[in-house]
Amino acid sequence: MHESPLNVPKAAWRQDEELDIFADAVGQFFEKECAPHVPAWRKAGIVPREIWKKAGEMGLLGASVPEEYGGAGGDFRHEAIIIEQQQWKGIDGFGITLHNAIIAPYITAYGTEEQKQRWLPKICSGDLVTAIAMTEPGAGSDLQGMKTTAKRDGDHYVINGSKTFISNGQTADLILLCVKTDPTKGAKGISIICVETEAVEGKGGFRRGRNLDKVGQHAADTSELFFDDVRVPAAHLLGGEEGKGFIQLMQKLPQERHIIGLQGVGMIERAIHETVNYVKGRKAFGQTIFDFQNTRFPEHPVQAR
Ligand SMILES: Cc1cc2nc3c(=O)[nH]c(=O)nc-3n(C[C@H](O)[C@H](O)[C@H](O)COP(=O)(O)OP(=O)(O)OC[C@H]3O[C@@H](n4cnc5c(N)ncnc54)[C@H](O)[C@@H]3O)c2cc1C
Repeated sequence: MHESPLNVPKAAWRQDEELDIFADAVGQFFEKECAPHVPAWRKAGIVPREIWKKAGEMGLLGASVPEEYGGAGGDFRHEAIIIEQQQWKGIDGFGITLHNAIIAPYITAYGTEEQKQRWLPKICSGDLVTAIAMTEPGAGSDLQGMKTTAKRDGDHYVINGSKTFISNGQTADLILLCVKTDPTKGAKGISIICVETEAVEGKGGFRRGRNLDKVGQHAADTSELFFDDVRVPAAHLLGGEEGKGFIQLMQKLPQERHIIGLQGVGMIERAIHETVNYVKGRKAFGQTIFDFQNTRFPEHPVQAR
């Protein structure tokens, strides 16, 4: 169990022995299976597929997916532990939380029974790596302005458009693609179509673009995606009903924001821990730099003001 250096009381939900045991197991996985490889992953700009399979074997994927669909049957507390441990061990760039706590919940909450059976077990095993593609070169915060379209043609949708900044974009086998099924209806014309990349890859219409350079999260494959008359079965429309995409996004994005908060706290804990360790170990002029008066100034910023 890691002791948080934040010096704040542990949240009520976190005071649970079962969660401590889970945190230990998750922490060990990140430390043994991931930490030694992080420098290489950052250099490569991507996390290898094997680690997704290993995480699946360890039961880390689909922590909050119901057991009947191959998950561990946990809840958001288990996802929060995975986030806590990932940050604590410094495993930035591995898109496990996006896969587990952002994307899987769309399928669990809105997927038809057939869609849940088709995708969730493979999401939990690591056979399918997932991405969600909302952002476009001309549509970020203002999601209603997206231009990617999906036109119904018999039993298929024909998709045209492009996406950018898509996490897991180079690796993803299943992309929850946000499209306009009716461009005349604004938000009410938005739908989510689940694209199985194996079915469209190499056929000309679907292309993964650049793996983008970023100021952080260097091991994350954040990418462009292009769609040019890509045909996807109509049965892969999430939930089976057109025009529900924007509501689905509005209902699930708050959890994503919550996750970003948890990741931020985890990063702060690690940064403080690393800094305190460093200043206690580093010596200059015959003493540790921790012991110099100026290193201590920021300890009482509130009183000092
Ligand atoms: C590392 C990384 C991973 C990402 N992963 C994904 C992913 O997996 N899938 C995906 O779909 N997208 C992803 N994104 C994209 C992300 O969702 C967008 O960057 C975000 O929605 C903001 O859009 P934008 O970058 O186009 O900024 P813009 O919308 O152009 O905003 C630019 C600035 O203007 C401000 N602004 C915008 N609107 C207003 C307003 N109404 N009032 C005041 N200020 C405003 C914003 O706060 C921001 O500071 C990722 C981005 C990054 C950096």
